[in-house]
Amino acid sequence: MSENVRESDAHAGGPGLWDEVTAWLDAHWDPDLSVDEWWRVVAGAGWTVPHFEVEQGGRGLPRRSQATVRAAFAEFGALRPPGGLGLLMAAPTILTQGNPEQIARLVPPIIEGQVAWCQLFSEPGAGSDLAGLSTRATRDGDRWIISGQKVWSSQAMGSDYGMLLARTDVDAPKHGGISWFAFELDQPGVTIRPLREMTGQALFNEVFLDEAVCDDRDLIGGEGNGWAVTQATLHFERTGIGAGGAMAGFPEPGPEGGMLGRTAGDAAHDRPPVTTRVVGFPEVTALAKETGRSDDPLLRQKLARLHTYTELGRWNALRGKAEIARGGGIGVTSIGKLTQTRIMKLAAEVGLDILGPDGGLIGPDGHNGGQFSEAFVFAPASSIYGGTDEIQRNIVAERALGLPRDPRPDRSLPFRDLAR
Ligand SMILES: Cc1cc2nc3c(=O)[nH]c(=O)nc-3n(C[C@H](O)[C@H](O)[C@H](O)COP(=O)(O)OP(=O)(O)OC[C@H]3O[C@@H](n4cnc5c(N)ncnc54)[C@H](O)[C@@H]3O)c2cc1C
Repeated sequence: MSENVRESDAHAGGPGLWDEVTAWLDAHWDPDLSVDEWWRVVAGAGWTVPHFEVEQGGRGLPRRSQATVRAAFAEFGALRPPGGLGLLMAAPTILTQGNPEQIARLVPPIIEGQVAWCQLFSEPGAGSDLAGLSTRATRDGDRWIISGQKVWSSQAMGSDYGMLLARTDVDAPKHGGISWFAFELDQPGVTIRPLREMTGQALFNEVFLDEAVCDDRDLIGGEGNGWAVTQATLHFERTGIGAGGAMAGFPEPGPEGGMLGRTAGDAAHDRPPVTTRVVGFPEVTALAKETGRSDDPLLRQKLARLHTYTELGRWNALRGKAEIARGGGIGVTSIGKLTQTRIMKLAAEVGLDILGPDGGLIGPDGHNGGQFSEAFVFAPASSIYGGTDEIQRNIVAERALGLPRDPRPDRSLPFRDLAR
């Protein structure tokens, strides 16, 4: 894995990035620090989010630098920076949509791995049609009282905060009456129940809100402006997924993740989670070499296709960055997400091809703890989370290619008058 990351080093922040990280680790890695202390040191040096601007806690490097930095940490034997949805979505959303007080209060704990976040967007009746959500937030002085139900909330169990969408105005059209809250989960009005998936694990949860409370100072981007803030969050989610990781498989941030009180040296020796549920070209080529199949011509064709998709994804990300810098880029993040979905599915399939019957084993009996078999049963989810393939194609068709939009008679009616 690290060799492949090293090969693409030149695309990920300059040819010297790997060496710079290694030199920094030589000077700073201290296995006797607590994880809590180590993550603060790493965050202070900008290595947790090297792709953020310097004044935002990063190093102003390209997005792909994050993968290079983390691979260099792993090869050095140092504890990698934390992962989680807070880094992927909440921090960049608050940085771009929050006010200075919110940024100063909410973002540093995310970058330092002190808190874990989940995304409380989807509801039983609002997935693709997210703007149809019906969780209600009612103002009560300087706080909001929130009731409703969320579902498919990844990692909600174990999170401290949720990126919560709630309807604050039922008289406005559906896109206009939504607000985005930084919502504290540990309170009496919140019930979280895990949902088991076909992987055998319970990544998802359903979250019930019964007169839960949120402080007005935690409303991000202004009352009724939640749809615009949501577009920012979805952009960061899809760009992160398109970049190939969505921050899965890294050490869990926050008190519930169980890492903070341990020593960094001890935590660095943890075997990485059995699977990140994401496999790609590096993992599959390593498997082909390891099993002596890398000369098989049929397999090589599939590997070549996988490599092609991977390179297309990388070029698309570079194009997206350039187009966004020029003020455009609509649709590029959706293409990136679609490409990554294709990579995940093909990589898992080729992995199982290589393993043959052994690929059917999940858990400790499977190859590398069942990495490829679990990736295979998880891969279909990539066509759903972060917005389905159909929705990504609609975005590309309507907003990038200018094809006629679906009729949307509900866009101008007050939400309370919509048939639901
Ligand atoms: C692994 C995973 C993790 C997730 N994590 C989270 C999370 O942390 N937080 C969160 O809030 N949500 C999460 N989700 C939920 C996810 O965002 C929704 O499942 C997704 O947006 C689809 O919504 P839905 O399930 O309600 O399906 P629906 O919206 O009911 O869609 C059903 C089918 O109809 C199609 N469809 C719907 N509308 C259109 C249209 N206009 N044009 C063409 N086709 C259409 C869809 O493509 C789909 O095939 C997660 C989902 C998965 C699978």
